[in-house]
Amino acid sequence: MKVMYDKVTLIGLGLIASSMGHAMKKIGLANEIVGFSQTKETREISLDIGFVDSVAETIEEAVAGADLIVLSVPVGAMAEVAKKIGPKLKLGATITDVGSVKKSVIDMVKPHIPAGVHFIPGHPLAGTEQSGPKSGFPELFKNRWCILTPLENCDEEARNKLEKYWEALGANVEFMDAEHHDLVLAVTSHAPHLIAYTMVGVADDLGRITDKEVINFSAAGFRDFTRIAASDPTMWRDVFLNNKEATLEILGRFTEELFDLQRAIRRGDGDQLFEYFDRTRAIRRSIIDAGQDTEAANFGRGSVDE
Ligand code: NAP
Repeated sequence: MKVMYDKVTLIGLGLIASSMGHAMKKIGLANEIVGFSQTKETREISLDIGFVDSVAETIEEAVAGADLIVLSVPVGAMAEVAKKIGPKLKLGATITDVGSVKKSVIDMVKPHIPAGVHFIPGHPLAGTEQSGPKSGFPELFKNRWCILTPLENCDEEARNKLEKYWEALGANVEFMDAEHHDLVLAVTSHAPHLIAYTMVGVADDLGRITDKEVINFSAAGFRDFTRIAASDPTMWRDVFLNNKEATLEILGRFTEELFDLQRAIRRGDGDQLFEYFDRTRAIRRSIIDAGQDTEAANFGRGSVDE
């Protein structure tokens, strides 16, 4: 594959950045990959693993002369990072981010980007419950979506190049307005994470009463919740603080439906429950048909306990 950006700088060296580094190296997308993370330990581990060619001691040094800069820090750290690097960015460079929320990241980053530097926000819809520089792997973005939310008057050439770059990493690219992105993600990712966190918290309280039965007899449904609820606390705290309105809107709707189902159970209304579950099962089918998940039972993990 042809080199797309001469020098790429990854800021924040966790799951997403390390996966990008591994993939870029595997495909040969950059001549040089420089990394920066706030702790020395993460910088050293990243260099040892080798998904970056070098690490910089300061963030300003890391971005000097870079053609593509990827902000891969928690959403809450974007403003601080952008403020530091803004004045050091090379004219004509492209800066993107991978934050899970788009509108507030744009509000935080845009004021610090000088004229002549192309800021194109992005969000790869790919991840696992693991974090840190050891958790990345080159196939993370393969056949996943990457949503780009370009600003008005975005440079077309820079935008097309970033689109091709994500496609080279294996992703399918979709363009969206930032606010729409935040609403869609509140439904598909943010609210489900909060529900999983809550369910695991409830079960944990119960576990104290029932002497760890919840853990010992943890069946498939609950196990899937615990996997989601093991996601990075900093990242998810920042997602909810920065996608407040859309998440609250979806949680409001969720609570109404939950009450409705609760009433159906109380009334013994089997028809309502069946119809509801039948509809949701069809949604699962359409996700599989769209190639976004496996058809194998229990996500291909073998037998289910119930
Ligand atoms: P991660 O594995 O927790 O890594 C975050 C990295 O950011 C760590 O290397 C951390 O450094 C560094 N960092 C934190 N604050 C910093 C600062 N002020 N300056 C410099 N480095 C800083 O996180 P991730 O999962 O890769 O997520 C990164 C971004 O991608 C987040 O915005 C998240 O919303 C988004 N995202 C995540 C997923 C997912 O499923 N995980 C999916 C799509 C998008 P140290 O280790 O040195 O402390």
